Amino acid sequence: MIVITRFAPSPTGYLHLGHVRNAIEVWNFAREHGGKVLLRIEDHDRQRSKPAFEAAIREDLAWLGFAPDAEVPRQSERDAAYREVLSGLVAQGLVYGCTCTRAEIINSHYEGTCRNLTIGLRPDVGWRIRIEPGVELFDDLRIGPQQQDPSAQCGDLLIRDRLGNWTYQWAATIDDYLQGVTHVIRGEDLLDSTGRQIRLARLAGRPEPATFLHHALIMRSPGKKLSKSDGDTGIRELRARGFSREDVTSMALHGPPR
Ligand SMILES: [Zn+2]
Repeated sequence: MIVITRFAPSPTGYLHLGHVRNAIEVWNFAREHGGKVLLRIEDHDRQRSKPAFEAAIREDLAWLGFAPDAEVPRQSERDAAYREVLSGLVAQGLVYGCTCTRAEIINSHYEGTCRNLTIGLRPDVGWRIRIEPGVELFDDLRIGPQQQDPSAQCGDLLIRDRLGNWTYQWAATIDDYLQGVTHVIRGEDLLDSTGRQIRLARLAGRPEPATFLHHALIMRSPGKKLSKSDGDTGIRELRARGFSREDVTSMALHGPPR
């Protein structure tokens, strides 16, 4: 099997140290396994994505020396592919329209309010996929065996929002499947999404799930995670302050200067 992984930034902001940490992990994994890295621009959120951010991300990646082996279409160009997969799920009666607002959904768990209504897949409502109870087992390459029940965690998954944006969970999962991504390498803050993505991929027809590796996040100091709002983690700013590529890579592995 050829290892195919991906680096998949969203052009809703500039590259920061968290992205660089992920890039290091992704490229290292691919190199160690003789695999390939796909670059995928995840601009599924059309309101927040900006071409200027995409251009800046590409420029920073090139400066850092991360060259993808191939690039796949950005998510805003994938509407036809997503609709084709969706049509198979609709034919199975798995998708329904939902008029609930975010404020009505408590603790990110959707209670299925619209499940048995007949709202239809109108363009002005959310589209959800039925997630039945059941545990997903997977073996994270770093963290070890996991079990998650997506029905208990999040309920029926939103795959398209009322603004007509495909959601992250849907777009990333369908892309990983159709683009032949064998290994998903990402930060451990996304561990909880894995069971639902494995389930969604199977419902969409993926015969074998991807393998997942959730790497550690950069720490500002022991016990304190780095966040985008920390302000000094933007690659643009670090470059402007005169830090070298090696300095930035080191910060992405060991944390920023204190
Ligand atoms: Zn609803």
